[in-house]
Amino acid sequence: MANMEIKLYNALTRKKELFEPTDPDVTKVYACGPTVYNTVSIGNFRTFLFTDMLVRTLEYNRQSVRFVMNITDVGHLVSDGDDGEDKLEVGSAREGKTAWEVAEEYTAQFLLDADRLNLRKPDELPKATDHIEEQIAMVQELEKKGFTYTISDGVYFDTSKLDNYGELAGQKVEDKEAGARVEVNQEKKHATDFALWKISPEGEKRQMEWESPWGVGFPGWHIECTAMSVKYLGPLYDIHTGGMDLKMVHHPNEIAQSEGALGTTEARFWMHGEFLQVDSGKMSKSLGNANTVDDIIAKNIDPLAFRYLTLTAHYRSHLNFTWESLEAAQSALKKLRMIVRDWDTPAIGCAEYEKRFASAINDDLDMPQAVAIVWELVHDASQQTSAKAQSLLKFESVLGLGLRDYISRELVVPEDVQKLVDQREVARDTKDWEEGDRLRDEAQKLGFVIEDTPDGQRVTEE
Ligand code: AMP
Ligand code: ZN
Repeated sequence: MANMEIKLYNALTRKKELFEPTDPDVTKVYACGPTVYNTVSIGNFRTFLFTDMLVRTLEYNRQSVRFVMNITDVGHLVSDGDDGEDKLEVGSAREGKTAWEVAEEYTAQFLLDADRLNLRKPDELPKATDHIEEQIAMVQELEKKGFTYTISDGVYFDTSKLDNYGELAGQKVEDKEAGARVEVNQEKKHATDFALWKISPEGEKRQMEWESPWGVGFPGWHIECTAMSVKYLGPLYDIHTGGMDLKMVHHPNEIAQSEGALGTTEARFWMHGEFLQVDSGKMSKSLGNANTVDDIIAKNIDPLAFRYLTLTAHYRSHLNFTWESLEAAQSALKKLRMIVRDWDTPAIGCAEYEKRFASAINDDLDMPQAVAIVWELVHDASQQTSAKAQSLLKFESVLGLGLRDYISRELVVPEDVQKLVDQREVARDTKDWEEGDRLRDEAQKLGFVIEDTPDGQRVTEE
């Protein structure tokens, strides 16, 4: 494939822009990772899947991607306003385990579920608690440059020191002041100022706290991403991703920290995935309407059906989650897999389709269009199946639907199902149609469909 243009929507400039990596040898991408105080929901995973499609699209364009995702295991408070409890301490109280155990448990669960959804592994997966030193150093740098002030509960970033603070969110310091919500912290100079380092309240022993130049305490949530992304990717890397909610507070604060400490916007492109919704509201753990990958498996649905479902909506559009839509996605995926089993082994490829597929994904990750092109290819009787197989294999590197295991592979019928097929053969010979139907139903319960064709019985996966 010749080098094609990639266009991506950049929230910093509010338009689709031509994307080219600064360093032609390596494209640098950072994603805000999960807060590991609870099972990561499929809502969160929609955002991680969007990032996954981005990384895979860059790789499809022969870019070598260095992909970093963090694990937030300290400092993310229940409220965005720098108050309330640390989410990890909440998880610890809920489960009667230490905050460290909670973090370890849910990180392992996250990695397992990420694997089940076929997410490309990050090249680095740094934890906030492993980078306290880097975070302290960055706060010191900000302090040295005059961007901070210290009050009784911590060190804060003075957002009025930056002319363009909040540009990403489309909000100015004065706007927020004017709209003045009641501030819990009276000592803060401006509503938009945020904690860089929180000092542990006197007499209160926290599970996660460290010595610092400002006293024993813990880092603010935003500093971890700036400190770690800069450590692993350098001071102005290519793309930073996250969910839509991060555009309003977390990301503007990351940019402020980077502007203050390094004089850069941290990343050149800032991209946000729209929410997975339930009944037109956000799917969220705190609202109690969140589902997990385990819930999907418990309903006997392939986690990759969820991946397929997310492909059918553009990442900048809402996607309303229902079990019916997930089941429909599962049917479509099964149908696709069944069809490609009968194809010949991959050879050559369908150049025209490959060109169209590349232009779809390169147009700000237009996955719904890419999926439509896949089905058009599948149904195109004028193409040889060996050529279709070759193209689909290429597309699979972006789709990640596990199709490699199905293309031109005969269905292996399990022994118990084969037994039913054999018994049904006997029933058919003796014209015992009732028994034949019963055996067919039996097979259906095991997830296999038996059809009668002129060549005899044909078994397909449901
Ligand atoms: P958290 O674990 O809360 O730090 O969130 C991890 C990621 O999931 C962040 O990028 C959030 O913006 C994103 N996120 C949270 N809820 C949803 C949702 N319902 N749909 C899509 N992304 C979400
Ligand atoms: Zn972050």
